[in-house]
Amino acid sequence: MARYLLAFDFDHTLIDANSDVYIIKLAPNGELPAEIKDLYKDTGWIEYMGQIFKYLHKNGSKQSDILSCMSEIPLTEGMRELLDFTSKAGCFEHIIISDSNSVFINHILATHSLSVVMAGIFTNPAEFNDAGCLTLQGYHSQDWCSLSTVNMCKGHILKNFIDMKRKSGIEYASVLYVGDGYNDLCPSLELRPQDFVFPRVGFKLHKLITKMSKENKPVDMSALTARIKQWESGLDILETVKSFSLQ
Ligand SMILES: [Mg+2]
Repeated sequence: MARYLLAFDFDHTLIDANSDVYIIKLAPNGELPAEIKDLYKDTGWIEYMGQIFKYLHKNGSKQSDILSCMSEIPLTEGMRELLDFTSKAGCFEHIIISDSNSVFINHILATHSLSVVMAGIFTNPAEFNDAGCLTLQGYHSQDWCSLSTVNMCKGHILKNFIDMKRKSGIEYASVLYVGDGYNDLCPSLELRPQDFVFPRVGFKLHKLITKMSKENKPVDMSALTARIKQWESGLDILETVKSFSLQ
């Protein structure tokens, strides 16, 4: 039986919000002070999120508050139906590649009681320290990809996973990459002609790919060889995967 890999981004893809933005509602008045807002461009994503978690902790947010806040975020429409189908079909493997963090992702997946088994969750490792403050580290530190943040090149992660599977004897007939953001462009460029990229309509990846199609920017369009299927709901993706499971 042919095997397929479904690789998902998390924020604004599996869930219908950005978890790293959503958590800011726990800050006093739901706002960050200017000195933290300015941190992102100076120090990068991990230091920025780490300072947000410290600020929430300093202002009284407990582990239970943070986890409850994450539980509020809904799955994106149609994702439960998609995952119910692909987890039962027997020919799909699933991974998540996300610049969120392991605490948020594991908690949200548990909240929604998804039956799907993830073959890998590639994200920034996080944990609550003894004082109850959420802490996180970068997934890796990279200097080879200008399309990605220092702490996460999703294309590198996807390629490594597929290579590791190949060494264990599994060659995917198609890889399906589902995402929405700028950092989903790099993994999209790793895909082959028999693969699919699913950019979410109205979000950055969709705009980038549309722009690439017209203007060959920000990278050479010839680098994107996968088939492009835009989506608004997980049900749009389900239509495509149903055709695979019949093969
Ligand atoms: Mg996203």
